[in-house]
Amino acid sequence: MLKILSFFTPKMCAVRFKTLNKCRTSIGLKPLQDYKLLYKAENIDVSSDTDRDWLMPHWAETFNIVKVGKRSDPTFSREIISFYDKDNNIIERLFRQNGMNTRKEIYSKGYKSRTIVTKEFVQPKIEAGINVPLKLKNLAGRWRDRISELQIIEEYPVLKQYIKGKRTDKSPVGLYTKRVEYSPSGDKDSVRNITFTKYPINFGFQDPSDKKVISGTLVKNGKDVELTDVRKTDNLKIDLNDEFLKYRFIDPRSDEGLRLLTDYFIKKRGLEPLHIYVNPSSGSVSESSLGYFWNGELHYSKRLQKLPSSEAVDTVAHEVEHAYQHAQIGRLGKSESRYETEAERLLPPIETNEIKSAVKYAIARDVYPVKNKSMDNPLYRDNYLEVKAREAGGKAKDMYQANKDNYEFFNWFGMHKF
Ligand SMILES: [Zn+2]
Repeated sequence: MLKILSFFTPKMCAVRFKTLNKCRTSIGLKPLQDYKLLYKAENIDVSSDTDRDWLMPHWAETFNIVKVGKRSDPTFSREIISFYDKDNNIIERLFRQNGMNTRKEIYSKGYKSRTIVTKEFVQPKIEAGINVPLKLKNLAGRWRDRISELQIIEEYPVLKQYIKGKRTDKSPVGLYTKRVEYSPSGDKDSVRNITFTKYPINFGFQDPSDKKVISGTLVKNGKDVELTDVRKTDNLKIDLNDEFLKYRFIDPRSDEGLRLLTDYFIKKRGLEPLHIYVNPSSGSVSESSLGYFWNGELHYSKRLQKLPSSEAVDTVAHEVEHAYQHAQIGRLGKSESRYETEAERLLPPIETNEIKSAVKYAIARDVYPVKNKSMDNPLYRDNYLEVKAREAGGKAKDMYQANKDNYEFFNWFGMHKF
């Protein structure tokens, strides 16, 4: 149904409007609202509006428009257009001022979650004096990411809910939000503020101020990222000295998290000079595995994104350990691959107390099975390289989970792709 409400526009300049309001308040009247509704239409079929088709997301079915003006400025207008899909879920909200795009919010639904990405319109650079039509300006500009917010809703149907003493059918819900704000200028990832908020489970009587919040700023520093300015509410038990805190902020399962965590373990093992290649979402990892190391390359499976973050930590530490083992074989002078030769060339000579284990690595390499890399195959399972890599992975995973408060808190927010 199309509803149109039109209002009379009084001709009044800003100065006269202010003067009028001064008079009104001085005699005890309420000041006039400057904003006024100019136009409102709901549930419009996208195909019925060919004027705006260039604004619409292609999967939109219907849209609503609200247009407001100012009493003090008849040339001013602000428009909010909301687009909906065939199931009437909101998919996009576009904000415009005087016919120009200013901002848009893009909504996407996941399982018990939704993400809202806010983009800011960057106007195209046009030389002064050149008259460009509005539509062209809108089309020539670009959108820049400003905020990305993940909202996770957790329902607790087993908990009985009473509101004002009466039993209701409503289940209490918990809300978790992860909000990332990008710097308004420069590279999208150069500076980011991340805020995690855990709202109290809503039984209908909680004070929303009971929410638990932690925030921090991630600043790009060369290949690495630094976590600074960490703040939290007093009611949140978080250990700020946690060695994995930065990775928990980023999420070890994300492409960036996997890369940075790999660098962290590479540094621990002194392998930086080898410039190991990292592919965080590789299509070449077999079904039976979550990652592999081969001749200076680390590949992680996309399946890690759907597993607990502790699995990513385990996998990274495991694969970096393989990188270490092969570097040790190279330093021992038993190079067979390009990577092992590079290790021999670029790393210092092997320490005397490391020779014994390096010899074991070299023997295990020579009998390492080429096929059937599954735990059912004893040649793979009991191979010394595998045994030691599993040990390293398990140790890292234990350390990651040992900090229970931190592990559990950040785990609530799940995997968030930006
Ligand atoms: Zn392995």
